[in-house]
Amino acid sequence: MNRLLNDDFKEQVRSRTDLLALVGESVALRPQRGGRDYVGLCPFHDDHNPSMHVYTDRQSFRCWVCDAGGDCFSFVMLRDRVEFREALELLANRAGLEIPRQYKAGPAGPTVDAKQKMYQVVAWAEQQFHEFLLESPQALRARRYLRDRGISDQSMVQFRLGYHPDEWEWLISQARGKYTIADLAAVKLVKERDGRGGWYDCFVDRVLFPIRDAQRRPVAFGGRVLPDSRYSEGAKYLNTDEYSLFLKSKLVYGLDEARETISKSDTVVVTEGYTDCIMAHQYGLKNVVGTLGTALNDNHVSLLKRFARRVILMFDGDVAGQKATERALVKFLSQEIDLRTLTLPGGQDPADFLIAHGADALRALLHQSVEAWEYKYRLVVERYGLDSIDSRHRILQEMLEILLEVPAAEGAGLAAKWREREQIIVGRLAQRLKVGEAFIRDRLQDLRSARQQRGGGGNGFRPVDLPGNDSRSQPAKPAIPPLPSNPSRDEQAELDLLLAVFTHPEQIESAARQVTPAEFQHVGLRRLYELCLMTHARGESPSFEKISLQIEDLGLSRLAVEVDERARRAAPRPDLLQHLLDYYRRRRELEMHSTEPVHELAEEPIAAVPGPATSETLDEMAKERLRRAMRLHASRARRPTGMAHPGETTDAPV
Ligand SMILES: [Zn+2]
Repeated sequence: MNRLLNDDFKEQVRSRTDLLALVGESVALRPQRGGRDYVGLCPFHDDHNPSMHVYTDRQSFRCWVCDAGGDCFSFVMLRDRVEFREALELLANRAGLEIPRQYKAGPAGPTVDAKQKMYQVVAWAEQQFHEFLLESPQALRARRYLRDRGISDQSMVQFRLGYHPDEWEWLISQARGKYTIADLAAVKLVKERDGRGGWYDCFVDRVLFPIRDAQRRPVAFGGRVLPDSRYSEGAKYLNTDEYSLFLKSKLVYGLDEARETISKSDTVVVTEGYTDCIMAHQYGLKNVVGTLGTALNDNHVSLLKRFARRVILMFDGDVAGQKATERALVKFLSQEIDLRTLTLPGGQDPADFLIAHGADALRALLHQSVEAWEYKYRLVVERYGLDSIDSRHRILQEMLEILLEVPAAEGAGLAAKWREREQIIVGRLAQRLKVGEAFIRDRLQDLRSARQQRGGGGNGFRPVDLPGNDSRSQPAKPAIPPLPSNPSRDEQAELDLLLAVFTHPEQIESAARQVTPAEFQHVGLRRLYELCLMTHARGESPSFEKISLQIEDLGLSRLAVEVDERARRAAPRPDLLQHLLDYYRRRRELEMHSTEPVHELAEEPIAAVPGPATSETLDEMAKERLRRAMRLHASRARRPTGMAHPGETTDAPV
């Protein structure tokens, strides 16, 4: 019942979404085949030859090079690196549809309307601040301050920087007739005066850096007080208080601008502030983001990991920067990510460094960034020196403490990977500290047991249970493998069965009676077949449209598109199904009658059947199968024991 409601809603969202327009927002598309298909440069790999196809009649897309594919939901999942639910929410909002309650994330989140209103108010405020900075004579001080920091007018526009004048109710008066105090308060732009009643603006006499979510919607502001302000005694930086749209631990500054370059380069550079991030972009380093005045936490790591495998922390060379890096280290080491750190020489911050030495110098340094592990090692060597046994012991101790802190998920492949990494680290430590690897391993084991006895957990191999972990860092479901390029005959038969059903959905009836999903070897094809059966059981036709609607997994969605595409190209004749049903029947009979492992026969790859099977090639395949089956039976019949099976001779119909 729920399932049906959900599918209805998904269908509603999908039918209200024009895939061509959606993809067109990030890819320049040109028509092909009389305007039914469109092609463009694939945004999911470094494409130079348009390989991304959008099929308007199917409302599906596929890249012929990197194999990305699916429907509108898959596209948003891939583009924004979000889960299905978020993609659905985003597309529903885009289509102006109210999301049914069972789809809402939290029990008491704001309603869609309230949320939309919030986005609207923040975007409006951003516009007010931005225009004021660019145009008002009162903003001269602010413009001068930004220029002094090296920020160009172009960057001010690109990052939509703003300024709030030195008036306590400026924004409130700007909002008059448009938004209420309650609207402004909901997004934390105003505060209530203590005791005396009334409201005041939050960012008086501050330069404002709008903070956007990954969908480029402004949700908050970072405010820098002007140095000559009469409020300069207060906090130098002030962020919007957290509220439902703005959770500091889940956002980084500049991600909206940096996202594409991060994905393409598979590298994200993290700086400590707004100006460092803006300056980097201004100098052409476009994969740079900034933290929001908070230490990097697990959520940030999970967020960044969605976009790139390599993270370079570029913090100030001062002591505070070093401490921040050291703190971040454990969090990154525990995730499957290539963490590097870069400390700028002479305690310069990135903005200063860029102004003094230029972008190429910084690029060169980024190339030399060291692995986080190495960074930590250098720090402790600096701290203790390498010259005495005692100091080497302390270095070892401190490095092992980190290994102990690293939690690794069981079963998710991470544990095995981490063990591998741990071995490498142990090997390197042994070499550098001139002690035996066995000694280090024993020492590590002792420390682990001691910890376990203290009940503190923290041994390397407990399941991850980090606070605030979101679903993305949960152990993943087993991935759906792509279609094998050299399918076994069983896999070919499974694919052909789906081609038949996708092309002639009415045939599901006979297929359902004779072939069960359990007979499928390929896990993805099996899932697709199951979906066909479920759809049929509900009294609906198992068309590609219906099937893909029930898929929330990216791998499966990609597979569905590929099967659909092959079905359309091969356009198998209606009698394909009958051939397949014969194949499955013969296989069952063989399995029943044979004591020999049928798999040996079944796993043999089919020779010379490139591309999708057509009914012609299948005819050939069926004959070949039959020939093999006969040979097998003949050889068995020659056996001296003469264990003849009654069914054997009837095994050759046709
Ligand atoms: Zn691609």
